[in-house]
Amino acid sequence: MTEQHPGGCLAHDQSGGVQRLVTPEREIREAVEAIKAEIAALEPPDYYASEYLASPNYSSRSAYGDSRIRVIVVHDMESSYQAGVSWLRNPSSQVSSHYAVGSHGENCQMVGEQYACWAVAYDNGFTVSIEHEGYASTGRYYTEEMYETSAKIAAGICHRHGIPPVRSTSHGICAHSDLGAAGGGHHDPGPYWDWERYLSLVKKYLSGGGVRPAPQKGLWRVQVGAFNQKSNADTLASRLKKAGFDTYVVKSGFWRVQCGAFSERKNAEELAAHLKKAGFEAFVRRS
Ligand SMILES: [Zn+2]
Repeated sequence: MTEQHPGGCLAHDQSGGVQRLVTPEREIREAVEAIKAEIAALEPPDYYASEYLASPNYSSRSAYGDSRIRVIVVHDMESSYQAGVSWLRNPSSQVSSHYAVGSHGENCQMVGEQYACWAVAYDNGFTVSIEHEGYASTGRYYTEEMYETSAKIAAGICHRHGIPPVRSTSHGICAHSDLGAAGGGHHDPGPYWDWERYLSLVKKYLSGGGVRPAPQKGLWRVQVGAFNQKSNADTLASRLKKAGFDTYVVKSGFWRVQCGAFSERKNAEELAAHLKKAGFEAFVRRS
């Protein structure tokens, strides 16, 4: 049987004439770089939503020239939360958002704030985007829980980047539609978005000190791998157990293989060092 592989080449095995694939070194190097980039996207220095579901659709802010973060952009996804998040994480969509919030308050971060997401065309350099479940033409899914959760996330962004909780396209919070043609000429989140309610909630959370909206995070965990397939996570977990490490598999976007849960970061780092010595890739993350 002949294996086909673009960019690879076929060679004859000297012993039996069996054809097998020889992958050029360049291709291996590129694959390693791609994996490193994926890990960097998976493990941002910090994140501020219930879960981090990395999107590959992002770039450096400086690529857009104007890279000082000073405006939060409010969107709606014209879809359900699940479908919207899945699309924003699909490499072929070429779109993304820093955050997304659902009508029941479910929420995630997909791109680190230090990067530009792909949501508002030419204005991606200086903005942080929050997407919401729902439809601009009806406002049907704009619930109290959604406003509350989104306002907590927005208050955190305001706090971190010195953004005032006022409606503005130069220094503040705005609708995607406020950005006009430079922002891609979109009409979201539409006339049903309750700005008065939203901005007063952002102000409330900003002044009340509850500006680190991280309902489910708190413990430092050592992550040894993240997989699409559960079977791959289980295989790694059993290798770790054999090597004497207490291990568990959690589903948080990916199937994650983790060891330990610590309130002190240094304890997690100590365990990560042991794991590295034993030959495992290990990263400390908070969740
Ligand atoms: Zn939008």
